[in-house]
Amino acid sequence: MDEPLLNEHNKQEYPPMHTAEHILNQTMIRLHGCPRSRNAHIERKKGKCDYILPEPLTEEGAREIERAVNEVIARGLPVEISFTDREHLPGGIDTGKLPANASETLRVVRVGDYDACACLGAHVKNTSEIGTFRITSFDYRAPVLRLRFKLL
Ligand SMILES: [Zn+2]
Repeated sequence: MDEPLLNEHNKQEYPPMHTAEHILNQTMIRLHGCPRSRNAHIERKKGKCDYILPEPLTEEGAREIERAVNEVIARGLPVEISFTDREHLPGGIDTGKLPANASETLRVVRVGDYDACACLGAHVKNTSEIGTFRITSFDYRAPVLRLRFKLL
């Protein structure tokens, strides 16, 4: 079966880092109730994501995020791709990062039962391929928290 025609994804991402970004986004939603990062910058060895938070993150808070992301990675969750059209999008799927001209058919990426979002990027097949997630630094300039991270 041919895959439906989708808008071209214009950046090459390193799948383990990019999949970690999905998990990090969902973890920030769960722990801090903030939206997914809108301006992630992901490279092979390091990444950074900005989040809108009402208050600064503590060192302990950073370790808590790290721990939660690593727990998800350690569960060895399958990363699954499915296609759906916009009208039939299951609830809770974020489409905010898609380009304005995104096609009617959306590619939904699920990280086990932990996260689902519409994305055209490259992902690992199982979270066990990601490695260990480390927050290397963070800074807060109200209301933006910038997290920098890497994989070990
Ligand atoms: Zn993705």
